[in-house]
Amino acid sequence: MPNHLSSLRSTVHAALFATAIGLTAAEPPPANPLLTESTLPFNYPRFDLIKNEHFLLAYEAGMAEQLTEVAAIAQNQAAPSFENTVVALERAGGVLRRVGAVFGALTSANTNPELQKIQRTLSPKLAAHSDAIRLNPALFARLSTLYTARGTLALDPESKRLLERYYKDFVRSGAQLSEPDKTRLRALNADLATLQTTFTQAVLKERDASSVLFAARTDLAGLTDSEIATAAADAKTAGHEGQFLLKLQNTTGQPSLARLTSHASRQRLMDASLARGSRGGEHDSRATVAAIAKKRAERAVLLGYAHHAAFQLEEQTVGSVERLNQLLAQLAPTAVANARREAADMQKLVDAEQGGFALTAADWDFYSEKVRQARYDFDGAQLRPYYELNRVFLDGVFFAAGKLYGLTFKERKDLPVYEPTVRVFDVFNEDGSPLALFILDPYARSNKNGGAWASAYVGQSTLLNRRPVIANHLNIPLPPAGEPTLLTHDEVNTAFHEFGHALHGMFSNVKYPRFAGTAVPRDFVEYPSQVNEMWATWPEILQNYAKHYKTGAPLPAALLAKVTAAAKFNQGFKTTEYLSATLLDQAWHQISASEVPAADGVLEFEAAALKKYGVDFALVPPRYRTTYFSHTFSGGYSAGYYSYIWSEVLDAASVDWIKQNGGLKRANGDHFRATLLSRGGSEEALTLYKNFTGREPDLKPLLVRRGLDVAP
Ligand SMILES: [Zn+2]
Repeated sequence: MPNHLSSLRSTVHAALFATAIGLTAAEPPPANPLLTESTLPFNYPRFDLIKNEHFLLAYEAGMAEQLTEVAAIAQNQAAPSFENTVVALERAGGVLRRVGAVFGALTSANTNPELQKIQRTLSPKLAAHSDAIRLNPALFARLSTLYTARGTLALDPESKRLLERYYKDFVRSGAQLSEPDKTRLRALNADLATLQTTFTQAVLKERDASSVLFAARTDLAGLTDSEIATAAADAKTAGHEGQFLLKLQNTTGQPSLARLTSHASRQRLMDASLARGSRGGEHDSRATVAAIAKKRAERAVLLGYAHHAAFQLEEQTVGSVERLNQLLAQLAPTAVANARREAADMQKLVDAEQGGFALTAADWDFYSEKVRQARYDFDGAQLRPYYELNRVFLDGVFFAAGKLYGLTFKERKDLPVYEPTVRVFDVFNEDGSPLALFILDPYARSNKNGGAWASAYVGQSTLLNRRPVIANHLNIPLPPAGEPTLLTHDEVNTAFHEFGHALHGMFSNVKYPRFAGTAVPRDFVEYPSQVNEMWATWPEILQNYAKHYKTGAPLPAALLAKVTAAAKFNQGFKTTEYLSATLLDQAWHQISASEVPAADGVLEFEAAALKKYGVDFALVPPRYRTTYFSHTFSGGYSAGYYSYIWSEVLDAASVDWIKQNGGLKRANGDHFRATLLSRGGSEEALTLYKNFTGREPDLKPLLVRRGLDVAP
């Protein structure tokens, strides 16, 4: 979460430490490396010097510094000008910006109990800090004066937009409320910050606590020897030597379900996954979820909105709650109808087996894999030897960026990392000029959030003279020592996807930090990354990276043809599980505080919401259930999980455009970079989209892609 109200480091700190940083051994390290600018290339964080105990102090110093800076801006005797108010705010909070980026990165990718404790302490303090700035009446008065006069200030378009964004941010944060209402708002924000952190940490702990222990190796029949070896090692670590522990991933579905041959083992795994957060005990999240929903609803009303969803969607590109509900209502019935057809196909297979049974959610992946094999004649596992991690990145992801944008990459080993498997690359433009640093953190760890994400360790800004340091975090299982890292087809796709976010961050060429890289509406941010997925199976790219890790033989064309043909397979399931989660997210946020259930009514509310939208199909549970739905209850994607499908509307139409204009070529990459990827949030997002494609958003390409262009 970037801090938009921040910047210039304190002159006090600069004076104290200016001579104490740098790499030469003769100089002592700074007392707290977070208080000063890193002198490493691109201001790369000093992971070699940063220790747990530095964070709280740096946060406190950073907040104090920013409050001093903001007070000086608000109390400035000179009449408000764009420079002395808006630009000054952009420059303010340098320490906080720096510590926030590093702390956010580490608490997501490499956390520990001490950092988690700091996180709990900090959340309400940061919420209060943000309120202290945005609810400052003198500051808002200056912004209002400038906003009213904005037509006469002769500002360039990016600056004018910055002023408008600041004004709007302050209004949405409650700047126009009465003092008693501001007090209530502050309390709600502080409570929400604490509750969201409680939820995040409970989900992480519950995921570990829900690992499933199997007594016998035969229980894991169907998994590879190396997966079984990992399960044995995990059991040993957990104090169950001789047994086998399967750890859970964030989502309801678990990768092993596709291959475990024992129905009973699959059922145990699925039951454990679905029960997370609602089985009692210390990590039960139902009370937290209900409290979050209630306080969000109260806050929305206080700010003048019908509910939290209305508040959130106001700033998004999808338009309105009504337009979103229409879109979801249009997609859901077709998706569920497709899923039911897919289930019927699988039930036939089950019935043909001895001792057939009624298919359950736990069996879906196993039998869909069988149907896939029968219909498309290939096994997903056949692909993995062709998807070796290094080749996927160096000869695939990076190669595509070379073809499209002229980028080159060079790994460097001299920069400190927080974890030995993390890698750092210099990224150069075609003319050899340095563009960015790219950090690759590929492996799953128990102290790492699930899923995959990109983050900016340093955001780009010409005002602050900053070039970007961008990271991709994936969750690929670490293979046993000496074995190559082989990816699944989905993991390859994810690698291209996350790199799309990285490009958005690295190409950023804006003046103000407020607009850097992925600082775009949430329902727009997934769009460029989804476009980048198209190159994973683009023949020229694929031929370059998909080579057998032992023999170097290319991925057989026939196998690839089958993969492509199977692309629409199982889309009923995938769309339904995603839309179910999306509809849950909306259901929790399109209600008033009085409609929020008590803790023991949370699952009932969930069931009723799924039923209401016609997605209550037991064979396809939501991709995330309420009780472990971090996207929506940790904060980032509240009332915004729909963003992926809306982004995909924009993505599918853009992919069509690229294909119609010659596909993989520099001109297309340069056009995408110039019109959209380099612009960050410096213009209206939909304008950027139209500048790139020359069109209005159109639903049709998405429907075709997902096989939803049929009557339910
Ligand atoms: Zn993404």
